[in-house]
Amino acid sequence: MAAPSIFDLEGRTALVTGSTRGLGLAAALALGQAGADIVVNGRSDETIAAAVAELTRKGVRAAGCRFDVTDQDETERAVGSLVAQGRTIDVLVNNAGIQIRKPFLEFSTADWRTILDTHLMGAVAASRAVLPQMVQRQAGKIINICSLQSELGRPTIAPYTAAKGALRMLTRALASEFARHNIQVNGIGPGYFATEMNRNLYEDPEFDAFVRKRTPANRWGRPEELGGSVVFLASAASDFVNGQILYVDGGLLASV
Ligand code: NDP
Repeated sequence: MAAPSIFDLEGRTALVTGSTRGLGLAAALALGQAGADIVVNGRSDETIAAAVAELTRKGVRAAGCRFDVTDQDETERAVGSLVAQGRTIDVLVNNAGIQIRKPFLEFSTADWRTILDTHLMGAVAASRAVLPQMVQRQAGKIINICSLQSELGRPTIAPYTAAKGALRMLTRALASEFARHNIQVNGIGPGYFATEMNRNLYEDPEFDAFVRKRTPANRWGRPEELGGSVVFLASAASDFVNGQILYVDGGLLASV
């Protein structure tokens, strides 16, 4: 009999925040197809139920858990209730995200808080909720979904850029602190992917042309193309990989 694959996730449970659609749902599907039990998260029971049904239809074991990552208490309570039901979160993907586009001088303080609370404090909240159990088991994987904006600036998205830059450094901080507990914390930086979040961008012929020209692969990413990196960083194949950001961007960051 062949030895089990180093990418095999059978017997693991993965919680993917913001997995009702887009990159989060694609990550959940890839993890599920690698053998993991999936916990789908979002802010509404309806979108969660639809995602769970889609995953189930594709042969993945999936359940839902509704919480808003901007609410620290709700996040910790919801993850705590999963643990109380006997679930072990072996893999956490901090993916939930939103975007607000405006010139810098038009952003309100509330806009800044919303973006930072979602991308940065949301990852902090979910990580705080799962890490005690991971430390206890001396095993765990946290994957933070970063962005090209973890490295590069761009007009009209200052809060998002600041948040994704901070998420890159949170990844390194947690990797440094928890590696000795056999917990690997890494990030993935997607390039331009055609999802709901940037529908107005890929439907804009000028922006579409910019993305194709700027991306050496000459196209937008397909959500399922994130799957391999997520599975790698969730599996034993990455047990000595700590604090790295893997850019899945068709070569964009590598070129000017
Ligand atoms: P989508 O808009 O398609 O999906 C966002 C997901 O996040 C939805 O499932 C939504 O669920 C959930 N969500 C939003 N806010 C919250 C919240 N406060 N609490 C819980 N869930 C929430 O976006 P993408 O799939 O494009 O983006 C996913 C991640 O990837 C984000 O972090 C984004 O910044 C990042 N990214 C995306 C890129 C791209 O090109 N698409 C490029 C680089 C990074 P619901 O509405 O059901 O609550």
